Amino acid sequence: MEYRPTIGLEIHAELKTATKMFCRCANDADEVKPNTHVCPVCLAHPGTLPVINREAVRHILRVGTALGGELADFSEFDRKSYFYPDIPKGYQISQYEHPFVEGGELAGVAVTRVHLEEDTARSTHAKEGSCVDFNRSGVPLMELVTEPVIHDAATAGRFARELQLLLRTLRAGEANLEKGEMRIEANISVSKEEGKLGTKVEVKNLNSFRSVERAIAHEIERQSALIESGGAVVQETRGWDESKQITFHQRFKEGSADYRYFPEPDLPKMYRSEIADFSDAVIRASLPELPWERRTRYTEAFALKESDIAYVVDTLERATFFDALTEELGMDRRLVSIAVNYIVSDLAGIYAKQGCEEYAALDPKAFAKLIKLIDTGELSSRGAKDTLALLVEKGGDPENIATEHGLIQVHDATLLRTAVESVLKEEVKAVIEYRSGKDAALQYLVGKSMQATRGAGNPTLLRELIIATLG
Ligand SMILES: [Zn+2]
Repeated sequence: MEYRPTIGLEIHAELKTATKMFCRCANDADEVKPNTHVCPVCLAHPGTLPVINREAVRHILRVGTALGGELADFSEFDRKSYFYPDIPKGYQISQYEHPFVEGGELAGVAVTRVHLEEDTARSTHAKEGSCVDFNRSGVPLMELVTEPVIHDAATAGRFARELQLLLRTLRAGEANLEKGEMRIEANISVSKEEGKLGTKVEVKNLNSFRSVERAIAHEIERQSALIESGGAVVQETRGWDESKQITFHQRFKEGSADYRYFPEPDLPKMYRSEIADFSDAVIRASLPELPWERRTRYTEAFALKESDIAYVVDTLERATFFDALTEELGMDRRLVSIAVNYIVSDLAGIYAKQGCEEYAALDPKAFAKLIKLIDTGELSSRGAKDTLALLVEKGGDPENIATEHGLIQVHDATLLRTAVESVLKEEVKAVIEYRSGKDAALQYLVGKSMQATRGAGNPTLLRELIIATLG
């Protein structure tokens, strides 16, 4: 019998706010000069007092509402005691028994809770010694914990991607994994007994979605092999070695008792019912269209393929562009379906080649015009590809671009006839072959005629003309 893996995720995400969680220092993720945004509060000087950032609380409540979770009326902050050079207070202000949000669901995975805490400073270790940068100290940090209900790596990856998209949609955070704005930890165990969980191992340092999936797959294999060979899994924290593609031991895990949580005496308790801005109705009304709502809308309005919709909704930039584009196309299903084909194939190809997507720089009006030129047959698929590439590169009007580069298809019968006649005069051998019934010869003659019109001739019309002329 196979071992059944069970996975739960713990995801931290820095929230986008003007200032830090408990002081007035700027929350600036792009600041490169260390220890620029610091004050006595976030440097943990004795005697300083924290003040709760309202914007950060609002972000958590909006995330909780989007997940369909229950927003607590009463909530409070707690001290989580531990010592580390990047947390000089000797404790982190977090939430323990009374988080802001409990329950909810995302991408089919049940959420246990979402709470708010402060980020730690950032340590870097070099040969000469260790450095601590306090710019990150006290940045509002969301922690989301899922139920242990995931049973494969792909589902874990899907959940994490959907959470990133949600945070960006809500403008609650940028959630870039490579910048450490979103950090994913996976708790993984395997068991042969139905309904019984094995010993769980926590894997950290997962700084891409791919490494989340690979680390989980590796850990499932490692634990299964370990048990199979008579060993036992120990509760520990493991890191992920990206170059070797393996997990490795970091430390043995503390239990929550070791943190000696207790309510933070320097902060007030919160009753949401006393804050009008935080009522269910106000928070709900503040939500934009959510990714899954957008998918449903696209399905109903345009009857597109599921994979195409998934692609378009996958980033906020794509979805914003697509919304503007469909407006320009008058919500016409046929035109939208042509447009989607060009987005998922040609445009995606161009962006893949240049290494980044620039939907914000692409004019939806111009793109819509391109689609209409394709639809009316003025642009062949070849001409459309070239026009699109030029449009992405330089911008401008697709019709002008196509005309300038001789890509507009010629429908003018006289022009096409002249081209065909001169080709038929020159290609005597092919004409004889065509007359003796060789299909390839007709293709060849169409190709030659296309060349004669410098690619602008409509191939269908040229084909008809050749057949008509040769009788
Ligand atoms: Zn500060």
